[in-house]
Amino acid sequence: MDGLEQIYEPGRQIPVCARTDVVVAGGGVSGCAAALAARRAGSQVILLERNGILGGVATAGLMANIGNHFLDNAGQPVSGGIPLEIVNRLVAIGGASDQWCSREVPGVVVDSERLRYLLGKMLQEEGVTVLTHAPAVRPIVDSGDARGVFIETKTGRGAILAAVVVDATGEADLAFRAGCPMRWEDGTASLEFKMGGANLEALYQHFRNQPETFPVGMDMVKGFTEFERNWVERGIFFFPHGGGRVWDIFQHAIVCGEFVRDRGELWSLDAAGLYGLRGLDTVIVNSNFYTVTSLDTVSLSRATLACEEACYYVADFFRTHVPGFGQANIVQMATDLGIRTSRAIEGRATYTDVCVPEERPVRCRDVIGCALVDVRFADTGRFFAAQTRDIPSGILLPQEIEGLLVCSGKSASTAPLKLLRGMMDCMVLGQAAGAMAAVAARSGVRPAAVPVRDVQTTLLEQGAYLGPRDRMLELGLS
Ligand SMILES: Cc1cc2nc3c(=O)[nH]c(=O)nc-3n(C[C@H](O)[C@H](O)[C@H](O)COP(=O)(O)OP(=O)(O)OC[C@H]3O[C@@H](n4cnc5c(N)ncnc54)[C@H](O)[C@@H]3O)c2cc1C
Repeated sequence: MDGLEQIYEPGRQIPVCARTDVVVAGGGVSGCAAALAARRAGSQVILLERNGILGGVATAGLMANIGNHFLDNAGQPVSGGIPLEIVNRLVAIGGASDQWCSREVPGVVVDSERLRYLLGKMLQEEGVTVLTHAPAVRPIVDSGDARGVFIETKTGRGAILAAVVVDATGEADLAFRAGCPMRWEDGTASLEFKMGGANLEALYQHFRNQPETFPVGMDMVKGFTEFERNWVERGIFFFPHGGGRVWDIFQHAIVCGEFVRDRGELWSLDAAGLYGLRGLDTVIVNSNFYTVTSLDTVSLSRATLACEEACYYVADFFRTHVPGFGQANIVQMATDLGIRTSRAIEGRATYTDVCVPEERPVRCRDVIGCALVDVRFADTGRFFAAQTRDIPSGILLPQEIEGLLVCSGKSASTAPLKLLRGMMDCMVLGQAAGAMAAVAARSGVRPAAVPVRDVQTTLLEQGAYLGPRDRMLELGLS
């Protein structure tokens, strides 16, 4: 909506609603992890969420699968801290399978409703002030230094002043509004939907009778045997995203003209990821794709409406063609279009995937978390390298503005942008940003000037994983 015509918005006095150590904008998994970490490190924290729901893409977006980046290729833990705590607490309240902790499990399938509830409960337990329906509309910037945010609520505009601002809005809204140098990569968006009344056991039996039709090597599912063990022994139904592209039911229907892959600007309607948990009686469907070339509200609105139509098109196909889905119906569509990648900051460091000999660790002294490195399944029969790669602190720090940290995985500084967008990586970055913000607020220096060792010590106290023991000794952190 870039109008050429312009009018003048008069300046005005804005009431200061609150002063705090750390303000976090965005209540997705990154923002919640940041708020918890900052609070546990001793800060007063306000969390702002523009919607009424905490969890972002993971809940409002119905993306009910935390990619299993918790274990390396050998099944050794490469994450701890808040991400692991969230998963463990989710298990305890029946929101995830207690059998998730295996390298054979591609993703921790979650009950998005229980996750939403849990995040709110954890934030309240810690004493984080949660403000929902509170969009952060602009950072308050004084001489290149972020000092808080303006919010716009039902009762009008207000200011929240803070020592440090954490931007967890998903698309780095505050960094963008502050004028930080940004990067853009066209990404895809999808509208997830939930179907009730699906008989997942019947679908499993269908594949059991013809395992050769099960897709191989996609979305961290090696093949039918793992799929079967996950469902039968662990209660996790994980049919790979993209699997529909080789699934005979979809492909036969395409050839017969009973189903199309593309409708208008939407494509790969046959992608068909399915995520379910035994006992839930619902399944999440991840099918449609829309290429996001702009965050302009006209484009996003058009995309949302097109995706809604596609959800019913795909759901109808499931009902008429897929075993176990004869009585299934859409019971919920995502509140928001889920955008995989779009806008990100140019950070003071950038996390990349170039020039990495697969088995060699990539280490840095300012490590604030570790990430698994993707390898090509087709070539190696594995999804991850045997080693993790260190995440440097500078990827959270936008250039040219002080006092601001960006911690959504898709908008921190990585190249390409997709590298840390998985939910577990988002929570790792969130926890790191929260710890860094708290240390900065406590010591009265800007986040970029905080001694990284203080941040690392705080993270280790909070159970975060920064590398194997020998590496911690090398860094003098044990
Ligand atoms: C379609 C899709 C499929 C995916 N599949 C997987 C998968 O299978 N496994 C996996 O691990 N990851 C997956 N991902 C990635 C992962 O889900 C996301 O990267 C992650 O959930 C993002 O979390 P976040 O907290 O950084 O951002 P979001 O979840 O985007 O949260 C941002 C929050 O900020 C709020 N907000 C936005 N602007 C403002 C503002 N100005 N003021 C206040 N609040 C604001 C939003 O309402 C939202 O709640 C997928 C992503 C998408 C989109």
